[in-house]
Order: sequence, then structure tokens, then C-alpha cells
Amino acid sequence: MEGTPRTYGHFIHGREVPAATGETFPSVAPMTDAVLGWAARGAHDDVERAVASAHQGFASWSARPPYEREKILLKCADQIETQFDNLLNLLIDESGSTIVKARYEVNYAVSVLRAAAGEARRLYADTLPNEKPHRMSLVVREPIGVVLVISPFNAPLALLAKMIAFPLAAGNAVIAKPSEETPLIAIELARTMSAAGLPDGVFNVITGFGAECGEQLASHPLINGIALTGSTATGVKVGQLAAQSMKRMQLELGGKNPLLILNDVDVREAADIAAVGAFTHGGQICMASVRIVVEAPNGRSFAEALAGKAERLYLGDLRDERTAYGPLINQRAVAKVVRHVQAARSAGAEVLTGGDVHRGLVFQPTVIYNPPRSGPCWDEETFGPVAMVLEAAELEEMIAIANDSSYGLSAGVLTRDLVRGMTAARRIRCGAVHIGTHSFQSDPLAPVGGFGMSGLGRSGGKYSVEHFTELKWISLELGETPRPF
Ligand code: NAD
Repeated sequence: MEGTPRTYGHFIHGREVPAATGETFPSVAPMTDAVLGWAARGAHDDVERAVASAHQGFASWSARPPYEREKILLKCADQIETQFDNLLNLLIDESGSTIVKARYEVNYAVSVLRAAAGEARRLYADTLPNEKPHRMSLVVREPIGVVLVISPFNAPLALLAKMIAFPLAAGNAVIAKPSEETPLIAIELARTMSAAGLPDGVFNVITGFGAECGEQLASHPLINGIALTGSTATGVKVGQLAAQSMKRMQLELGGKNPLLILNDVDVREAADIAAVGAFTHGGQICMASVRIVVEAPNGRSFAEALAGKAERLYLGDLRDERTAYGPLINQRAVAKVVRHVQAARSAGAEVLTGGDVHRGLVFQPTVIYNPPRSGPCWDEETFGPVAMVLEAAELEEMIAIANDSSYGLSAGVLTRDLVRGMTAARRIRCGAVHIGTHSFQSDPLAPVGGFGMSGLGRSGGKYSVEHFTELKWISLELGETPRPF
């Protein structure tokens, strides 16, 4: 970004407004440490203002016919395309994305808004057969009201667009609280959608910190639902707050995802696929393939092939198309990766390559062979470019290792044997299993979510629409029925 960093406001009721306290905080580029801009630091009064505005927005948005919501969301997608380069550059700078990942995110935001626009017309419900004579029963679907979207730093445009698009299509208003690491991209998205004709109050953004405005939003009695994408610790906390006022909850949390490599696949090709699964965005992907289980006798040769691939990755300028990935988001993230690698090493694992900082916040691609199946590197999200490789004797043992986790987000199975592939897919306890590729996959219409500590509910397509609508039974008496008294 060029020029003097500007001060951004919250986005409330169609315009940027400063925090009521006047406070701001910097958004810093992880690659260069430059201040990109100053974001409004949200607190109590800002939350109240956003909630009041969203209720106004909800009243008119939910009353619009579906084809109007569809039309406006399609215009939002078009408008994002006109802002492609601005959004791309801000993503690269603010989130440390490579140009390839940033391009994917902007394209995904366009695509998910178009997919959601179509869902506006499909709020189907039912008519029911009745036991009672002369009664007709209808089930109708209604938006729940104001949905709070809390989003993470790692895919700050794609995920935010996905999380708001489907609730909006269903007629809800949305307040977003983006990560404090990436506030500016959220404001730019809201400005872009407002310029496309999204009415005032339908999509507000409050920037700031979890403890200062996130918790207040999550416990606000006039917010009706929450879609949170973030860490499991945050999910547990926000879930507890939201339960106090019975909010509809969709929690998309952490993962420690398995990739199974059966012995009918070529080890080099498997290493190329696994590298994308493990190292995209430096492993800062909830669905990253980080626990790689290889069928005997290929464990060692696969691990060496992956280490060779890792050593050949290009880690250069973020705008260079060859760059595989960029920096971790902050120094805390780097310290966590270092701690996890050290713990695995101390427990006897072999670090085949990497294990240290490359430069700045960029961590070396790291391959660990034979990690212990306990300790931080196994039990917790590392959220860095660290792939662990283990060998297992046969499919049963591979599935058992895949399921040896409190998480259950996504899995990959590399094989050409569909019977064994499907056997694994049915037995692995994850929200998604992808045969023939790694675990990091997304599609606007697919149900994304996890088993166990990976979350609650599913987002995407009709699954989000179902989640953020209420069912109402309406009955109609069409004749005389006997009365008891
Ligand atoms: P995080 O949990 O630190 O923060 C996520 C969001 O929650 C941020 O906006 C943050 O400000 C907010 N927040 C934090 N504490 C809060 C509180 N007490 N009350 C209200 N809001 C609060 O996560 P992160 O570091 O930004 O993102 C990485 C995490 O997100 C990883 O765990 C990753 O696996 C997960 N993630 C999951 C998915 C998925 O689809 N399951 C997708 C992307 C990221």
C-alpha cells in the first residue's frame, strides 16, 4: 500500500465512524512490520450502535422479496471484481498472503456471494400431513434476525465473505467482528458491498479485540445467532457466552488434520500433494494436512521425498508468483511453532528438514519423522509449516492414528483403490474426507465443519441457510373438529 496510513472507522449504517472513545490500533504488515492503517478500537458504545443499526437493517432486508436480495448480492460480487486489485494488495500486505493465495481469496469471495445469491430463492419449507382432520399445516422458514460473524486472520476475506453471504441471503442482518490482525480488509469489504447497493445496517463491521468488543457482542441479548471461525479456545468461550441468551451457534474451530497415504500411490507424487496440504500459507490453515500417516513400507521414503520438496520451496517476495508462502502472523505465532518443534525433538522425533526461522516471521518448511503421539505438537494446533510423518502397518492402524485426536475437521486419503479409500472415508471421524487429494479443500456449497473439538454445525450453501433460519409451524383449521368441552 502506498501513501500515509489512513485511519479507518467501524462500518456502521453505511459509513465509516470512529470509535466512540476515539481510540485506534494499528494494522501491521507481518512481512515488513509497516503500519498499513489505524483501525477503530471497538468497545461498549460502538457495539450498541451497531446492534441498533443492524435491527433497523434487518427489518427492511428481511421484508424484501428473495429476488431483490439475490440481485443485490450479485451486484456485491460484481463490485468486488471491480475492486480486485485493491483487495488483492491489501490482503497481501495485511495478512502476509502470497499473490497466489490472495488471488484465490478474492475470487472465492466473488464466487461465494454468487452462490449465496442463488440460495435467497431457495428458502424451501414443507406442508405436512396431519393426524387431526380439517387441519392444514405449513412449515415456513424465517431469518433469525441479527447474526454476529466473528472471523479469523488466516483467510480474512474468503472466510468473512462466506460467513456473511449465506445468512444475508436468508434475510438476516450481519455484524462482523474481524480478527484484530486483519481489520482493514473487513472494512474494505463492507465499503465495497455498500457501494454495490447493500442497504444501510444490513452489514456492519466493528473492529477491535475479543475481550473489549467480541465478548460484548457474543453476549448481547439482541443478537440472535453467531457464526464464529477461530480457535477452539475462543469457540468454547464464545459458546458459553452465547448460550446465556440461547443464540443459534455455528462454531468452526481448529483442526489437526490427517492425510493417509496408502501404498498404491507414487511416493513422489504423494509428497507433492502433501506439501500443498501442509505448507500452504505457512500451515496457517485450519484444514492443513499436518499428521501424515503412510502405509508401510513407504514411511521413510515418503518423508524423505517430502523433505526434499520442502527444501526446494521458494520463499521470496509475496508478489512473486513462485513464492510458496509468506510470514506467520506475528511473533507469538513463531514462538509457538518453535516450542512445538522443540517438544517433538526432545521426545525423540527426527527433524528431517527445517525447524527454525527462515527470516523475519517466515518459518522454514519443516518435516518431522516419527513424532510422539502426545505433547503439544500432536495435541495442539501448531499453525505453522510443520508436517509430521508416521508409518503404519496397514489401513486399520492408519485409521486409528487418524482418529487419535480431539479434533475432527478434515482429512485426505491418497489411493487409487476406491474400496480402501471409501473404507477410510467412512471410518475417519472428521467433517470432511477427501479421497485423491489433501485435506485443505473448500467449496461454497459444501457443508464445512467438524467433529469433536473442531466445532459445531456446518457452514456453506443450504446448510448455512438452514442454520440461520427458524422453522415455524403455521396451522389452519378448515372445518369443524369435536371439542372436549
Ligand atoms: P482466534 O480464536 O484467536 O480469533 C478468532 C476471532 O475471535 C478473532 O476475530 C478474535 O478477535 C475473536 N476473539 C478472540 N477471543 C474472543 C472472545 N473472548 N470473545 C469474542 N471474540 C473473540 O483465531 P485466529 O488466530 O484469528 O485464527 C486461527 C484459528 O482459526 C485456528 O485455530 C484455525 O484452525 C481456526 N480456523 C478454523 C476454520 C474452520 O473452518 N474450522 C477456518 C479458519 C481458521
